[in-house]
Amino acid sequence: MLSVIESLPNGFLTAEAHNLKSILGGPTLIHLKGAREPAVFISILQHGNETTGWYAVQRLLEHYTTSGNTLALPRSVSLFVANVEAAEKGRRRLGHQVDYNRVWSGGISQESDEAAMMQLIEKDMRARGVFASVDLHNNSGRHPLYACVNGLEGEKLALASRFSKDVVYFINPTGVQSMAFGHFCPAITLECGQAHAHNGIQPVYEFLNNLIQMEQINVPDSILSDIRILKTVATIRTTGTGHFHFGNEGDGLTLRDDLDDFNFVRLPEGTVLGKSKALGPVLRVFDDDNQDVTDTFLAIEGDEVRLKQGVIPAMLTKDINIILDDCLCYLMQELSVSSDEIA
Ligand SMILES: [Zn+2]
Repeated sequence: MLSVIESLPNGFLTAEAHNLKSILGGPTLIHLKGAREPAVFISILQHGNETTGWYAVQRLLEHYTTSGNTLALPRSVSLFVANVEAAEKGRRRLGHQVDYNRVWSGGISQESDEAAMMQLIEKDMRARGVFASVDLHNNSGRHPLYACVNGLEGEKLALASRFSKDVVYFINPTGVQSMAFGHFCPAITLECGQAHAHNGIQPVYEFLNNLIQMEQINVPDSILSDIRILKTVATIRTTGTGHFHFGNEGDGLTLRDDLDDFNFVRLPEGTVLGKSKALGPVLRVFDDDNQDVTDTFLAIEGDEVRLKQGVIPAMLTKDINIILDDCLCYLMQELSVSSDEIA
């Protein structure tokens, strides 16, 4: 299902995200030669409705297109244009597809065509060598722009710090691109603001433009004081059976309407998330080992759902489809890391 090409197809640089399917046909890995090797690997549109990465990459490639219509990149770029089929429909993924960003090596489902494609890409890029890997996403809820890592190596933190002062460290979910590539190069994920908002395009373009001009990735001595590392400790999921909704009325669990204002906000113990007579039928909380830790994080007091400990939520969304397909949110806590813990 993967095409591999070495130049930009006609119409690529002016295409909207939903037109990429008709230009590329399907998922495509594009190796573009630059002045330095090895390449920066960039993946976009693993989730078809998350288009900021595409428009930032388009701006980057336009910037290095000469008047003679050839590309003059300071470093090679290998670009993975992922789920163009879902992008055509403006959807995260289509009903018959697995989630592209859960089937890289280490993921749960390794049998699908998509997983086979990711293995091919990993093998190819491992053999070529990668300077750095950047996977571009958007959130569905209101969010600041931020970088994520799946390991605390200095180069990963240094790269992440060039995008945001808040760096999210997560090891769940597995099967994500940055985790797979993180075994052989500095790999990060960038969350580029809310899907369909345009505020992320320029900062992501500037980050990428900076990256492809770098000769090496320097890790400043001050790296640990330059950033705040937030570790995801748990995920709140819906059970799929109980009723929930936002706002004021209805049966089951009523989540507060301003819930996505809480992203990256430090919430104290006791914060009210919503109203419900019972929690179990609707929401469950799982830790990184997929153990049910609902009672550690949430409690019903009267008819209010309250936090049992202080947390910083991320990826809180009010999009019901995303909540059912993925999760309501992740819960994070600030991690203190000493300099001998970073490799
Ligand atoms: Zn995504």
